[in-house]
Amino acid sequence: MTEPDLYEVVNPATEEVITTVELGGAAETDAAVARARAAFDTWRRVAPADRARLLRAFAAAVDADREHLAALEVANAGHTIGNARWEAGNARDVIEYYAAAPERLFGRQIPVAGGLDVTFQEPLGVVGVIVPWNFPMPIAAWALAPALAAGNTVIVKPAELTPLTALRLGELALQAGIPEGVLQILPGRGTVVGQRFVTHPDVRKVVFTGSTRVGKEIMAGCAARVKPVTLELGGKSANIVFADADLARAAATAPYAVFDNAGQDCCARSRILVEASVHDEFMALLEPAVRGVRVGDPADEKTEMGPLISAAHRARVASYVPDAAAVAFRGTAPDGPGFWYPPTVLAPVRHDDPAFTEEIFGPVVAVVPFRDEEDAVRIANATEYGLSGSIWTRDVGRALRVSRAVEAGNLSVNSHSSVRYTTPFGGFKQSGLGRELGPDALDAFTQTKNVFISTEE
Ligand code: NAD
Repeated sequence: MTEPDLYEVVNPATEEVITTVELGGAAETDAAVARARAAFDTWRRVAPADRARLLRAFAAAVDADREHLAALEVANAGHTIGNARWEAGNARDVIEYYAAAPERLFGRQIPVAGGLDVTFQEPLGVVGVIVPWNFPMPIAAWALAPALAAGNTVIVKPAELTPLTALRLGELALQAGIPEGVLQILPGRGTVVGQRFVTHPDVRKVVFTGSTRVGKEIMAGCAARVKPVTLELGGKSANIVFADADLARAAATAPYAVFDNAGQDCCARSRILVEASVHDEFMALLEPAVRGVRVGDPADEKTEMGPLISAAHRARVASYVPDAAAVAFRGTAPDGPGFWYPPTVLAPVRHDDPAFTEEIFGPVVAVVPFRDEEDAVRIANATEYGLSGSIWTRDVGRALRVSRAVEAGNLSVNSHSSVRYTTPFGGFKQSGLGRELGPDALDAFTQTKNVFISTEE
């Protein structure tokens, strides 16, 4: 008998151990895959209306448990209670949205000579979902809901640091009547459980959200097995502010576009590009907005930003702001226990400074001026990433030109919104591959089968 691999789950706002979770090893992963493989044979044959009903019951169970799920995320991930409630509601909405899919998974009837030609959207089989620690609930839900709706069975591997809400979602699915083995939550190490999803022949698809570095390894491993993969990776998104914008609104909202979730957001607008003619005016408006961000106890309803996820992550974030860094201004952060880091604005910043080129994944933003529209687009696109971004202007033509020119999957004009469960989400360039959410997500969990039926006598 090998010793169980026990992992202490820590509250990042207090540094206290909340609970201990047993991490699965290779044998547990293989056993989970075998259960999921067996469950697939029955789940795919559940009548569409019954699969839809079960998913609606699952969504209702999540809805009834929202406060509990939110409290778990406040404790486990240090998310503000406001954000955590939104995340639990988002998980419910995504499951409910895809509950409509089993009855609408249409194929096509294609005109051919000598018979009838129809297509079927067939499920893939067992889907392995690897989730990061920054948004444990929504990211699990974005994959598991369309995958289950399309008739696949799913194993979710939460991040080591944040397994609690995923485990709860698994319990709620069972309570709602989703059969055993159809959705399993398996806490474990990425290099063990996550890696086994890549190599196990019965896992037919991997959905990975996390760092670009690990995403490349997963893609290489899946390539060797011709296994489809969806990747949602890092970002270094630009918030582009033109001189004709509503500067007061652009400056008041810019902190929340990057400091939300303490900057641990793949869509964080961590580069602010400001037209040179209004740069100083913008900075003067930005300063009080940044100093006004309420950082503190995430359970307090008024708090706008909580701690970072871990001491190691805080050290990594801090490494981008050495003593010699040009800190324009800073917000506040509590003293004492907890992995706190204050909202930090860097300016002026060189375009080759790692703080301007690399994903920091913390509450650090760099502001740089640009000359004109062409210069703004050039700077925005001078990155290997392409996930999201914002464009602030009152000129509709410019808003559309720049939206088409910026190489990113999710843009917002005069807003910082990136995510709606009804619209597609995903990255350009090294920010990812494939799209989640919206009507397109089902394509990622089905394959098209063509059947020709002869009408010849
Ligand atoms: P990470 O890549 O270290 O880990 C992500 C997940 O992968 C974890 O569950 C981890 O256990 C697992 N993992 C690690 N090594 C693995 C391996 N060799 N094989 C299989 N699985 C492995 O990333 P992180 O630090 O947890 O998350 C932060 C990153 O996630 C950031 O770069 C961020 O931009 C990205 N992210 C992207 C999106 C998006 O939608 N594009 C959303 C959230 C986070």
